[in-house]
Amino acid sequence: MPPKADKAPQVCLCAHECVSYARMGRKTVRFRCHSCGHCCTDVVCLPTPWDVIRIVRNTGKLPSQFLEFLGPDEISEVDDNDPTWLVCGTKRYLMALKRGKRGCYFLNKRTKFCKIYEHRPILCRLYPFKVQETRKGKFNGFTLHKDVGCPRHRDGEVETKPLHRLYRQDCGNQRDYEDLVRAFNKREYPGKKPSDFIKLFVEVKCTR
Ligand code: SF4
Ligand code: SF4
Repeated sequence: MPPKADKAPQVCLCAHECVSYARMGRKTVRFRCHSCGHCCTDVVCLPTPWDVIRIVRNTGKLPSQFLEFLGPDEISEVDDNDPTWLVCGTKRYLMALKRGKRGCYFLNKRTKFCKIYEHRPILCRLYPFKVQETRKGKFNGFTLHKDVGCPRHRDGEVETKPLHRLYRQDCGNQRDYEDLVRAFNKREYPGKKPSDFIKLFVEVKCTR
């Protein structure tokens, strides 16, 4: 998500210099966030395990304080085949940031700013930008998502290089996430709960 505070976007957490960036088409995308609040109030944020660990380390909060696990009836527009569904017996769940009637757990309801701006999930940092690919599936730049509810104001300019770094980082995180979910879904035991997934990824991360 673009900045919701009066500071420059915190965009790059990635240690890798981008190798394909030089071949990218557009160096900027026309956009300016007008802080309408839609993305922090009406949209469910799905963090990766690495987002969760970063938030825990930097806020001191327990994952159980800010995470919830949503069933198919509680979330729309996620493909049935999405590889991050956590399977517990006959049920399945997606890991999400908790939300209330007035939006995300981390939204300051008074100021409408993100309370963990420096540590927010990568998904929030990339919103509402969408990767463009060539016909051969090669990365080709960014545009704005059409169907995510953002009003997509075009009166600003955002550099695509930091977005590309985030995108690469997110691709790696998503691959790790899918591996962890596969390992979790293979385990079957009485009383299995989606929140057990947290223990699994904290264990794996701590042994790395
Ligand atoms: S973590 Fe912050 S930026 Fe992301 S949805 Fe919540 S309030 Fe918005
Ligand atoms: S929906 Fe778009 S304009 Fe509104 S706060 Fe989010 S990024 Fe900014």
